[in-house]
Amino acid sequence: MAVREGRPPYVVRPSTAVLTRGFDPRLSVGSARPAVFRSSTYVFSSPEAGERAFAVALGRSSPLEGENVELIYSRLSHPNAEILEDQVVPLERDATSAAVFNSGMAAISTIFLTFCPPGSHFVYSTPVYGGTQHLIHQVLEPLGIHGVGVPAQDTGALVAAIRSTPGLGLVFLETPANPTLVMCDLEACARAAAGRSERTLVVVDNTFLGPVFQSPLPLGLDLVVYSATKFLGGHSDILAGVVLGRDPELIGTLRGTRAVLGNILQPDECWILDSRLPTVDLRMVRQSKNAQRVAEALAGHPQIVRFCYPSLFRDPEQVRIRDAQVRHPGSMFSFELRGGKAAAFDFLRRLTIARNAVSLGGVETLACHPASTTHAELSPEELTTNGIAPGLVRVSIGVEDYRDLLDDFRRALDALS
Ligand SMILES: *Cc1c(COP(=O)(O)O)cnc(C)c1O
Repeated sequence: MAVREGRPPYVVRPSTAVLTRGFDPRLSVGSARPAVFRSSTYVFSSPEAGERAFAVALGRSSPLEGENVELIYSRLSHPNAEILEDQVVPLERDATSAAVFNSGMAAISTIFLTFCPPGSHFVYSTPVYGGTQHLIHQVLEPLGIHGVGVPAQDTGALVAAIRSTPGLGLVFLETPANPTLVMCDLEACARAAAGRSERTLVVVDNTFLGPVFQSPLPLGLDLVVYSATKFLGGHSDILAGVVLGRDPELIGTLRGTRAVLGNILQPDECWILDSRLPTVDLRMVRQSKNAQRVAEALAGHPQIVRFCYPSLFRDPEQVRIRDAQVRHPGSMFSFELRGGKAAAFDFLRRLTIARNAVSLGGVETLACHPASTTHAELSPEELTTNGIAPGLVRVSIGVEDYRDLLDDFRRALDALS
């Protein structure tokens, strides 16, 4: 079970903290790894303890210093969620607390439904993840929650929209954007939001580069959200979402919405994700090194007309943002083939190591055709505005030997001519 006051006796670095905090083996009969607690309900030690647990859960009272408030029912929280929420915190710089959800979309929709009341506006960077785009148009707009989309790379327009949009509930950013890796200036957006008279939360979907290569909280952001299905899980075998923040009250408010929406991550998935946390750094560093070697070697290939990868940026504003907020280029890239859609399909068919699938962040290399799959919902104009050409292929690099990946990609590219 979780050690609720799980602070280490002295401050250790993140890769140590992720292995030492949040779990006390004495509460799992000495087991070196946490047990899985599948119970849906929890026995109160006394009726008073049950009354007290409900008072805290309903927000009528706050836990006292050192108080162990008892568990109630697993839709509210359960031991494996508590352990995971404690253990994931050290991975995110400046985070103090976390909330886990049963997918990235569950985390994102819970953020909007919690912090954007009907009639309010939010500003968001474009392009955003397809599921988020769908949520904005098909769910939030009909509820009277209005999105103002601004191109991610246009810092001036983002800052102006954040300063001047009336009734602003939230700013929702995604950087780098999918699939072209366009970056937005997190610090400038946070500063603009801080300049408003009412508190305006700034949230970033940090799935592509965080938590290892991009740390938004020290730049002034309020919440960081992940599809933990991707790099945090890292093996393409679970769906999960995580939200982290500096202010525990914001996370507590999200847990309240989560309890009524019923989208907490289940105990088995918590246990699996928990076991992946100590290797997030190892995997992401290896994947980024692999991707950088492959991208830089492929970029000059005669079949490729455009290459999207942070270490290959040429636009001065994009280079400035990259250098200010990103530590390594990461393991996602996309490139446009000379022969358009037919060449892209031909290329995907010829790959033997990389598999043709959507999703990303796993230990295995995946490749897909965004215009006909992940971004198929966009109109032809939206595809063009967002740089998603018919010949664009997106790749998520895994932990294989990069020389084999390079051979695989080169063979497929050479065969196109
Ligand atoms: C996959 C993804 C999501 C959605 O996460 P799920 O776990 O599939 O619900 C959101 N944002 C980004 C950037 C993603 O890649």
